[in-house]
Amino acid sequence: MTPDGPTIVEAGRRLREGKTTAVALLESVLDVAQLTEAIVHAYLTIDREGAFASAAFADEELANGRDRGPLHGVPVALKDNMCTRGVETTAASQILGGYLPPYDATVVTRLRQAGAVIVGKTNLDEFAMGSSTENSAYGPTFNPWDVSRVPGGSSGGSAAAVAIGSALGALGSDTGGSIRQPAALTGLVGLKPTYGTVSRYGLIAFASSLDQIGPLTRTVEDAAVLLEAVWGHDPLDATSYDGAYPDPRAEMGRGVDGIRVGVVRELSGEGYEPEVETATANMVDRLAGEGAEVVEVSLPSFEIALSAYYLIAPAEASANLARFDGIRFGLRIPGPTTEALMSATRAEGFGPEVTRRILLGTYGLSAGYYEAFYGQAQKVRAAIRADLARVYTDVDVLVSPTSPTVAFEAGARVADPLAMYLSDICTIPSNLAGDPAVSVPIALDGRGLPIGFQVMAPALGETTLFRVAAEVERLAGFTARPVIDLVAS
Ligand code: GLN
Repeated sequence: MTPDGPTIVEAGRRLREGKTTAVALLESVLDVAQLTEAIVHAYLTIDREGAFASAAFADEELANGRDRGPLHGVPVALKDNMCTRGVETTAASQILGGYLPPYDATVVTRLRQAGAVIVGKTNLDEFAMGSSTENSAYGPTFNPWDVSRVPGGSSGGSAAAVAIGSALGALGSDTGGSIRQPAALTGLVGLKPTYGTVSRYGLIAFASSLDQIGPLTRTVEDAAVLLEAVWGHDPLDATSYDGAYPDPRAEMGRGVDGIRVGVVRELSGEGYEPEVETATANMVDRLAGEGAEVVEVSLPSFEIALSAYYLIAPAEASANLARFDGIRFGLRIPGPTTEALMSATRAEGFGPEVTRRILLGTYGLSAGYYEAFYGQAQKVRAAIRADLARVYTDVDVLVSPTSPTVAFEAGARVADPLAMYLSDICTIPSNLAGDPAVSVPIALDGRGLPIGFQVMAPALGETTLFRVAAEVERLAGFTARPVIDLVAS
């Protein structure tokens, strides 16, 4: 089957023209889920009852002239690391099995206020640590474009759901690339907004100085719709940005004439698939053809961003995950003493990748090693910011592939953590800098697998980011959809 569901914007139009209802939209995405979940496994929880209640309520409000805007009545999915009151939230970990949050994350509250219908909670790598959604304690998600391959990660469930049409849009979280990389591998638009613009309140923390929630959608305009619904200052998040927010739509459709585009030299070469490099170069040429001023730029610190990330992110994770002790949430393995209980619960409850990160982080923060590891990594982070500040005096945006490769075979990188970590080589710098970046699908490779193009901008540069992303989308004219053979799979 090929999904034929509408985009968010189209669904909104049909709803307002009286051609569909929120309940009908929900039924159709649930039909898709019914047909595809056994093959794709995008969801950990589908909240049928809650979703039907909000869809019915949306129809009632719309019928009574109460219009909450473009998401009203639209079925969307949430990565299962965002707290939903009374609906199981596991971060794909055994340690949170059965956890029913007593509150909604701020993004969830805002989606509800916008009238969105929350279909359910999507699969991820445990605690968002991974690039393939194979680290989930509840089994992997597969890529709708080729079900022998991974959908990327860690927001692979959100990506697979939107790609196959079991949601019209989804939220993911991006600490080192977890929205953009799966978007690239499944032919979607994936946006990591500026750090601090989307509240982290109720997001199960991985690395708090890097984590950002953002949309996975079929189009750039849909990404704007979801972003506008969820971002904005939140007093419940101490790192929430409290100044003026850019307008993502202000320059959409204006083309790229006069926009200065920097092609990042360090994000090419060894390890990049030739077809990814060719598609990227073609798009750069087409942008130049539309009047963009293209220059190659060098950011030497990008070469060491990955190493710095794999010290900083695990260091923060080791602190954040200390709260999972068997006392307060989820799993509890009894023991003769409190310490034995905590230790047994943690040994049993965390999967191998999470354990590796906690060990790495604890080691990197320990006395005697702190300066050599964590301190050094913070210096690299500062160098990345300085490199970016320098190039952004000459260019408006930076571009690169989103991922050095297209979707890889399931299992291919599981036994080799470094190969898995390298999946995020292009996306990590924006997290370390706190800058916004987006992946836009531009082509299919010879095997029919999607290739994503990354556009990066300085902090709060979403107006220019969306302007360029919309032009990339128009030039690429990417309309392909995955086909799932329901019989053979
Ligand atoms: N793949 C990276 C990691 O494993 C990034 C994950 C993410 O962005 N959440 O840490």
